[in-house]
Amino acid sequence: MQRPKPPEDIGSFDFDFSMHKEMPYDFRPDSDLKQWVWDTFLNEDSELYNQDHEHLCYYADDLIGFMWASRAFEKGGRVVLGQCEQTAIMAGGWKRKRQELQMVQWFGYIPKYIITIDVGFAETASDSDFCALIEHELYHIGCELDGDGEMYISPLSGKPKLTMRSHDVEEFHGVVQRYGASPDVQKMVELANDGPTIGKAKIAHACGTCLLKLA
Ligand SMILES: [Zn+2]
Repeated sequence: MQRPKPPEDIGSFDFDFSMHKEMPYDFRPDSDLKQWVWDTFLNEDSELYNQDHEHLCYYADDLIGFMWASRAFEKGGRVVLGQCEQTAIMAGGWKRKRQELQMVQWFGYIPKYIITIDVGFAETASDSDFCALIEHELYHIGCELDGDGEMYISPLSGKPKLTMRSHDVEEFHGVVQRYGASPDVQKMVELANDGPTIGKAKIAHACGTCLLKLA
């Protein structure tokens, strides 16, 4: 199964932007990308199925909207290639209705989460880099756990409660070098030493959601 390619005409506009300081960013929703993510990582029959995302499978595929961005942005000296955000329409009245209309025009529905991927990255990345970034963004949508650390299922909805999730490990190289690995870092080391089960990827610090956390 081929991974979806971004639209070729993204970033080209049919209006005159010579008045603007820089080319505007362009954003395009992609339902094929969404379908590919669902088929690839959330379908039990797929080779790349990942049970870690099981909580997402309780929801229909209108849970997440997928978008391409015509180029990356820089934050904290790092280039951001992907981002996962919870849709938050913090407005009322016409302002709210306008934002809701924008979502429906883009996706056909109002997604609870939006994952955005840089087109430049998508065009040049290896398959494993691409999959790693997509899964990195998916991992940001976690779920609430019960007292035993198992997925909590709400008796009302019969579904897990989703929540934004940050990293498994947050540490400085220098602290590990000087004081050694905490249990979380040690776990990361062990997983790295075991080697990747899918393919080697180079996506460190490419995610805007992580940088937003850092900021
Ligand atoms: Zn991230």
